[in-house]
Amino acid sequence: MLFTKDQQEKIKNLETPFYYYDMGLLERTLNSAKAAADKRGFHVHYALKANFNDRVLDMIQSKGFGADCVSGNEVQKSIDKGFAPEMITFAGVGKSDKEIIAALKHQIFAFNVESIQEMEVINELAGQLGVVAQVSLRINPNVDAHTHHYITTGLDENKFGVPTSELEIAASVIRQAQHVELIGLHFHIGSQITDMNVFKSLCVKVNEWKNWFEERGTAIKVLNVGGGLGVDYQHPDENSMPDFEAYFDIFDKFLERTAQQEVHFELGRALVAQCGSLISKVLYTKSGIKKNFLILDAGMTELMRPALYQAYHKIEHVAKEVTTTINYDVVGPICESSDCFGKEVPLPESQRGDLIAIRTAGAYGEVMASSYNLRDEIRYVYSDKL
Ligand SMILES: *Cc1c(COP(=O)(O)O)cnc(C)c1O
Repeated sequence: MLFTKDQQEKIKNLETPFYYYDMGLLERTLNSAKAAADKRGFHVHYALKANFNDRVLDMIQSKGFGADCVSGNEVQKSIDKGFAPEMITFAGVGKSDKEIIAALKHQIFAFNVESIQEMEVINELAGQLGVVAQVSLRINPNVDAHTHHYITTGLDENKFGVPTSELEIAASVIRQAQHVELIGLHFHIGSQITDMNVFKSLCVKVNEWKNWFEERGTAIKVLNVGGGLGVDYQHPDENSMPDFEAYFDIFDKFLERTAQQEVHFELGRALVAQCGSLISKVLYTKSGIKKNFLILDAGMTELMRPALYQAYHKIEHVAKEVTTTINYDVVGPICESSDCFGKEVPLPESQRGDLIAIRTAGAYGEVMASSYNLRDEIRYVYSDKL
């Protein structure tokens, strides 16, 4: 169970819904990832888009991670939070001129460039500022991440990255660009990847394309293999953190590199998913002809993943042990049929006022909250402030 009896007493009267962050678990997860990466000389940038809650970010920054950003505001946020500019990367298919200029002025570590046209724009803007932009070229390696199609990004027909058929042109554009320095190759093939063989296939592709550039006389300093490491949504207590040793070991074994070449990672979900839960109250119970409903005070406006990509989250009764259960469709109050957290979820018999925990909600949860239906602003509670 998520909460001890003592903690249950403390949260009983808090206004719901709220995100609950287990700061101890976050710290253990970060320590585990950092130790496994450091041991191999790997650099890890945290993907801010997974969660930019202030205290979560503070802890990640304090542990020595870099920042991986996908908007100008994320770049600014990481600078405000004390991440060093030389540890900040900026990715995304649609960087605006304003965002590029701001990042150039901050002299961030690298732009992960997603198209030839973007490369030309960065070159031009860097020229106007009289600086040289360090860039990594995002290559679309055509690796199937075996994950949900909405979160697969590495196949040929995809808006992300430069397809391999265009690399010849990209390489020549880079050679002629005066204000752009190619420092690395970037890959990010998808999210919630749990099959380590997928990362092995990625290593093979990275080796191939690194050699391709080197054969053409372009030195590659940084191999950025992106993020995507998955977590166990089914068993958040048994597997409260991913096996970072096994993950980094794959890259250590299968990436060909010299001692000078750096390996960079951009982990989001793997670092923050398990430390967060959405806590909600049962407003109403309702029986249909064949179904039982639990209507919660949290909905897709607080946690959008189930509505957005049919994502599974484990749903638990906060106070009752699972002995005999009833199957409930657990739904939110929002005026959309897709506002449903789970169908036929076995839960102890529940009443109005009971607390329900939706687990593994630390990544792509709070950050996607919206004010649709003019909902309240999201609330959060930290374990060490209970
Ligand atoms: C979203 C994203 C990440 C992080 O993905 P996770 O699956 O959360 O690890 C890393 N790199 C890029 C470019 C991304 O867009």
